[in-house]
Amino acid sequence: MVQARVTEPARPRIEILLAAPRGFCAGVERAIQIVEMALAKYGAPVFVRHEIVHNRHVVTSLEAKGAVFVEELDEVTAGRPVIFSAHGVPKSVPAHAREHNMFYLDATCPLVSKVHVEAARLHGDGCELVLVGHAGHPEVVGTMGQLPAGAIHLIETVGDALSFAPHAPDRLAYITQTTLSVEDTKAIVDALKARFPNIIAPRKGDICYATTNRQESVKRIAAECDNILVIGSPKSSNSVRLVEVARRAGCNNPCLVESAENIDWQALEGASRIGITAGASAPELLVTEVLNAFAERYQIEVREVEVTRETVQFKLPRALTA
Ligand code: SF4
Repeated sequence: MVQARVTEPARPRIEILLAAPRGFCAGVERAIQIVEMALAKYGAPVFVRHEIVHNRHVVTSLEAKGAVFVEELDEVTAGRPVIFSAHGVPKSVPAHAREHNMFYLDATCPLVSKVHVEAARLHGDGCELVLVGHAGHPEVVGTMGQLPAGAIHLIETVGDALSFAPHAPDRLAYITQTTLSVEDTKAIVDALKARFPNIIAPRKGDICYATTNRQESVKRIAAECDNILVIGSPKSSNSVRLVEVARRAGCNNPCLVESAENIDWQALEGASRIGITAGASAPELLVTEVLNAFAERYQIEVREVEVTRETVQFKLPRALTA
């Protein structure tokens, strides 16, 4: 529950609309919990391949508890556990770990794993596969790495969809990254469907509930706000998408901030209503710090605008709960 703090009467008034849901999703909470439980069970250091989630604050606080973040498995000290990040990994990564008798825990979000399973099933059914996503994002690298090189075509834009030349236009299927803009993805998928009416869609949409809900909640407040601050890392796909969604939904000045220290106060001058949300990898503590920074400069009135309540929880790996 966010409390409004009353400040000096001389300070200008500002209304803050807090989008809800915002911040941590069930996949991020699970990934962080896996690292913390592994530290408790096996002691430090516990290695984590890639940032467990794309948030500097989360990474720094896990480092302080004994987690060591590496980019590749050959940086892991022999005999120590290694955890794969929430974004998922190519099949070659666990295969390498097994070959070298490494003990690993997989913190891949179950909703990303669902896309991996889907990709394998569709490939097994003889489909040519399209992945709608952003090149280089670790989730995309992980999903493309579920199948042999060349088996998945990456499509990033409507232009890509229009120029795509499949080998088997009648045996085509698509999957998507979980953290895309719902609207951009629809435009790309519509372009694919217009060209390939028989293209097979995922059984259930691949954009996850958390991405969808955070976009819905920022859309709800966007047109009413002079500025919107999206708390999150520039590396966080769903945070960057929230800025785009806010702009498209009618806010002229949405921006991404990693924390309260990064707020450009000059850019907020003259604003009477500010929206605040946070990407799925940004902890609520960062939202509280931003609210406190506002309370030091303004008389703030905070109103939470909730579009839905989330109750999703994912199981932890058995190795940690047994
Ligand atoms: S944003 Fe979605 S896919 Fe990514 S970790 Fe959260 S729930 Fe999972």
